[in-house]
Amino acid sequence: MRILLVEDDQLLAEGMKTCLKREGFTVNHLDRGSLAVVSMAADPADIMILDLGLPDMDGLSVLREIRQQGHLTPVLILSARDGLDDKVKGLDTGADDYLTKPFETDELFARIRALERRIASEKSAEIVSGPICLNTANHSVTVSGELLTITRKEFMILKALMETPGKVITKNTLETALYSWNEEISSNAVEVHIHNLRKKLSINVIQTIRGVGYRFSA
Ligand code: CA
Repeated sequence: MRILLVEDDQLLAEGMKTCLKREGFTVNHLDRGSLAVVSMAADPADIMILDLGLPDMDGLSVLREIRQQGHLTPVLILSARDGLDDKVKGLDTGADDYLTKPFETDELFARIRALERRIASEKSAEIVSGPICLNTANHSVTVSGELLTITRKEFMILKALMETPGKVITKNTLETALYSWNEEISSNAVEVHIHNLRKKLSINVIQTIRGVGYRFSA
């Protein structure tokens, strides 16, 4: 799950990034509304957390623009404005939820999990291939009915592969999905996740396409 955080308060943004990453989310951060609009057009995130008071343009204008671009990405508005008017305006403009500052991180996580569930329920919840069943609603994977213990990154890799069976997914695509923009990625990070995933699945369904990427084949 890739989150785009648009927040000009650097201290708050750093804190949110740290705790969201600890929960296993991939977080990219921007402090300008105009950059968020450009970023969403180029490479849409799964969830957007959007501050209303930004230095260059109002958060509501950002929201309006990305909805006009046709993005259905769930947007959680974050704002110090707690007037009912602002909430209504935000939701009317196409926000999915609204969180007033200051907030507890537990509440932030709960709101994001609700958005995750909504995304999952809009898509088909289960991807089944042979004995492997991946459930996007509760983030679980079973092989022949046996529940596997897998990390969030391993889950994301398997999901990406199972969504496009027979197609090669480049290593670069997987890295973009798994890591934040400025995150230091060791050159074999994806290989390590794939290696662990293969061990856990215990059946050979992930093929390595040398120098290119990986392919799921049942
Ligand atoms: Ca602000």
